[in-house]
Amino acid sequence: MFAIIFLFNTITVLHKVYLVFHFLMMLWPISQFAVLTTDNPMLQLFYLKASFVGLSLLGSGWLIFAIFLTGQSYLLTRIRLFWLGLPSLFAAAGVVCNPWDWFVLPVDGDFKEREYGPLFWFTLITLSLYIVFSIYHLYSSYRTAKTSRHRLQIVLATIGILILSTFALADLVVNVVFAEQTTMVIGLTSWGILLSGLYFLIAIQVFKVFHVIRLDQKDVLDSMSTGIIVLDEHGIVLDVNSAVRPLFSLRPGDFLDISRLLAPLHIEGDVRVFLKAYEQRKPEGAQIEISLGSDSHMSIYTAPIFDSGMALIGRIITFQDVSELRRLVDESYRQNEVLQERNRALMLMQDELYKANQLLEQMAVTDSLTGCYNRRYLMQQMEHEVMKNMRYQIPFSIFLFDIDLFKNVNDRFGHIIGDEVLSSTAAVVKRMLRRTDVLARYGGEEFSVYLPHTNEEQALLLAQRVKEAVEFNIIQPGPGNHPIGVTISLGVLSVDKGGRMSVENPKGYLRELFSEADAALYEAKHGGRNRIVSIYRKA
Ligand code: GH3
Ligand code: MG
Ligand code: MG
Repeated sequence: MFAIIFLFNTITVLHKVYLVFHFLMMLWPISQFAVLTTDNPMLQLFYLKASFVGLSLLGSGWLIFAIFLTGQSYLLTRIRLFWLGLPSLFAAAGVVCNPWDWFVLPVDGDFKEREYGPLFWFTLITLSLYIVFSIYHLYSSYRTAKTSRHRLQIVLATIGILILSTFALADLVVNVVFAEQTTMVIGLTSWGILLSGLYFLIAIQVFKVFHVIRLDQKDVLDSMSTGIIVLDEHGIVLDVNSAVRPLFSLRPGDFLDISRLLAPLHIEGDVRVFLKAYEQRKPEGAQIEISLGSDSHMSIYTAPIFDSGMALIGRIITFQDVSELRRLVDESYRQNEVLQERNRALMLMQDELYKANQLLEQMAVTDSLTGCYNRRYLMQQMEHEVMKNMRYQIPFSIFLFDIDLFKNVNDRFGHIIGDEVLSSTAAVVKRMLRRTDVLARYGGEEFSVYLPHTNEEQALLLAQRVKEAVEFNIIQPGPGNHPIGVTISLGVLSVDKGGRMSVENPKGYLRELFSEADAALYEAKHGGRNRIVSIYRKA
């Protein structure tokens, strides 16, 4: 039963080592007593051997316990354990085999009276050496121990082993070495074992020597703000930390029914999913959030605990206050919405700005009265176009036209009507042009047209049609006024390929072209107006 409980329960290795050591100690008095209960020499020898096997192994057991006690178990590799235990095993093997009666010899046919051989002394010497080594180990660890609890543990253990070894030594001296001279004192070592056992019992109870791990754990658990419930595999509460107490009245030993625990709570999310995960013991655990009032939120997390063989040994449930987290999340959502709203407004403004900019650009290049391009735009465009035309030897033409005797219109009908005539004329001309032609107000009632890909012949044909269109355009300036018709004079300049391929100063070249067109216009005016004068030149 001892072995089963010992093997299949989760206890610390320190406890296990102690229990092995204690078991070996127990072997001695029981077997020594058993020797006296029988007259059968075979049984007597068996019990005697059992007690001395216990004694042989006691030494190494004690040393290993001492090493564990001082927190240096990490030093105990398998190979070191083997070497450490070897003398013990050797002594035990000697006792069991008793070769040539080297361990023990019966006197008067049985073992109640006996003579010990060299293997007996070997056993005692190895035991003494183990005890000396372990006391030395405890002493040196005492000096480097970090906590007073640790030091206390070492002192208590040392006293315990000193009690035992003193009695064992006394037994040896009185009953073996000076057996002839003194009267036999039965069971001295057993007394030592009883006393040291009692001593260990009291020390463990009073100083809670072996509670060190549990106490630390309890302190750690209780200092946490997260509520923790540890359950065994049947749902019985093993441990509850102090953070759980304000929430639920649970004590170790209570059965915890999770669905009843959650029933009165306001749960956010699907409780069935959580309960299913809880029952199915999903290794990744399950999480759910509950709200305890408007500003108080709690996250519940549960996960199964498996042992190294992946068998379920319990469950942990944690409760964490996530109110602050929730508040921050809500706050960030709210801020996000505000930000999005601002973004939308910003985009709207950007759109408006873009439109205004476009309008501004449009206004910068158009003439407000007639709606055609202004002179600055025409020049800019032409600077670029003229260069291109030269490089690729593309023909182009320019019109420069002026309304004839416009001063008379102003004088007769006033400036307002003059303006109307001006824009109507521009509109008529525009209708005659192609989309790629650029009509611009050159100044006053004077206009210019840039005609890309247009040679002299085509330009003259178009000039003729433009002139006629203006001539036939009759403007009706409001009721009570006479209809007005105007004519225009045109200077046409055509530039064809066969000349220069490039020009150093495009602005100067344009000035040259326009002064030639102006000269043609001047000639048209002098020739009697309402006519076209054309000039042809090679680039
Ligand atoms: P021609 O060109 O045939 O020699 O005779 P003209 O009477 O047209 O003479 P000129 O070109 O010298 O006169 C231009 C007139 O155009 C002068 C000015 O009052 C008028 N004018 C210039 N710009 C505007 C304008 O924007 N609106 C109006 N109503 N009149 C303008
Ligand atoms: Mg004029
Ligand atoms: Mg003029």
